[in-house]
Amino acid sequence: MGREGDCLVDFDDTDRAYCSCYDFHFRVLSGSVPSCYHLLAARLARAESKFETISFADEEFEGFLRALVSDIASNLRTKNRKISSSS
Ligand SMILES: [Zn+2]
Repeated sequence: MGREGDCLVDFDDTDRAYCSCYDFHFRVLSGSVPSCYHLLAARLARAESKFETISFADEEFEGFLRALVSDIASNLRTKNRKISSSS
């Protein structure tokens, strides 16, 4: 979904929300910005009923989480390399 890979987005009707992207971890949690664009897009999609539900069988969930964590770790390594090389 994102330009740099998929993100896990979790939110409800309260202020609680989570996104696995770099911006959420480093800018939203520090209070620099109120939300990442994934959460904004997910809330907008839900409000306009423009989303698709994908259901996993229990035995498929482990593989999904492994792929997601691997993708997140890869994105963070890439971001850290970019930060290191720019300083
Ligand atoms: Zn995000």
